[in-house]
Amino acid sequence: MKLLFESGSTGRKMSYLPACDVPETELPKKLRKEPPRLPEMTEVELSRHYTRLAKQAFGVNNGFYPLGSCTMKYNPRINEAVAADPNFLGIHPLQPASSTKGCRDALALAQTLLCEVTGMDAITFQPAAGAHGEYTGLLLIKKYHELRGDSKRSKIIVPDSAHGTNPASAAMVGYGVINIPSNAQGCVDMEALKAACGDEVAGLMLTNPNTLGLFDPNILEITKLVHECGGLCYYDGANLNPIMGKVRPGDMGFDVVHLNLHKTFSTPHGGGGPGSGPVGCKAFLKEYLPSSLMGEGRKPHSIGQVRSYYGNFGIVMRALTYILTLGSDGIPASAETAVLNANYLMQQVKQYFPVAYDHTCMHEFVLTLEKTKHDTGVSALDVAKGLIDHGMHPPTMYFPLIVHEALMLEPTETESRESLDEAAAAFRAISEKVVSDPASLHNAPLTTPISRPDEVTAARSPILRYQFEN
Ligand SMILES: *Cc1c(COP(=O)(O)O)cnc(C)c1O
Repeated sequence: MKLLFESGSTGRKMSYLPACDVPETELPKKLRKEPPRLPEMTEVELSRHYTRLAKQAFGVNNGFYPLGSCTMKYNPRINEAVAADPNFLGIHPLQPASSTKGCRDALALAQTLLCEVTGMDAITFQPAAGAHGEYTGLLLIKKYHELRGDSKRSKIIVPDSAHGTNPASAAMVGYGVINIPSNAQGCVDMEALKAACGDEVAGLMLTNPNTLGLFDPNILEITKLVHECGGLCYYDGANLNPIMGKVRPGDMGFDVVHLNLHKTFSTPHGGGGPGSGPVGCKAFLKEYLPSSLMGEGRKPHSIGQVRSYYGNFGIVMRALTYILTLGSDGIPASAETAVLNANYLMQQVKQYFPVAYDHTCMHEFVLTLEKTKHDTGVSALDVAKGLIDHGMHPPTMYFPLIVHEALMLEPTETESRESLDEAAAAFRAISEKVVSDPASLHNAPLTTPISRPDEVTAARSPILRYQFEN
């Protein structure tokens, strides 16, 4: 497809701007030697360019998007309507407080409701994503130990099924990581955890249900062991969707939580944001939170600001709308449907490909294509690419790392039975291809503008500037 610089023609433009009514001046030569080379095109050319691009993207509004761990649920339009209310859109955080009461009340309501869902006592909306929330939450834990003069605690316990952001966030805060293996059931190995607990442990980071989609039956024992050795417990709330309104991290023994509003609470994600990863904590950590700016005064022990003002306000308004729309009955009902959908799909798909840990799952499940690859040469990547030709987004691949040739599926509650059946039919068709014509899957997808991009080069050496020929 043509890039903007290759479309249009010199001198073409659209002119909405009124004539200049102030004296024109030249920019100092040292600031700019020659005018920038900008695309020149008409409005219709520009509109077609972006429409073409939009058609090449795939989102929840195009079709089934079972990207495990990402909770790609439908984003209700009413959330957009509320976030776009001119009274929310046109506001500035530096306006006099007397003129922003409505917005601050809305934030306070969101705080109350999310504290209720998580079992926490206080929340900050500053973090802009899940990983940013992890970083913020770990800073709270670090501050807690520091102010107690407990300087020996330099390690965070992270199970091997954790999301990659967990050990990365621990490292960002300056902690070492103690990796805990999973047991045969895919949950935390209790003996290994006991051995890891000690006076160097600052805390534990855990997501429950974990990234295998399994709820750890020992969760109360796990948080108790960590507390007994003097550590704090951090809940990676990116997997809250199947338990919201049913079980609360605060009741499982966690002290700090982050939520991914752009997963569980239906605000849009993919493509880089804006997101929102609020962090909640128990009362004894509240004084370390970033200042809420909502009239509570100076906080001498605060970890400081991790982002400007109130975080991504519009995203919080979308999540608030979502919570109020679902209500106290709708939230647990949504969690139940997420679990039902995942188990329904798992029962269908496991007729064609084996499940890594074959138990009743929560919101997601993981297939392993290790044997398929060994026997036929068809890898998890090939199957994922093949699914694209069936009109669906591929599942998460090669994660969690403890499952070889992994495909991780999370259908979410917003899919109908028909769309789950269609997805199962796609898996059946691919499994038949694996037998009849395995080589063809190495070339999939065949229906997209680009078949198999070189992902490493695209990530490591992206071409971000247009290379003019002259
Ligand atoms: C998505 C996810 C994260 C990170 O969230 P981001 O908003 O992408 O930074 C952390 N943990 C788990 C389990 C996740 O699924």
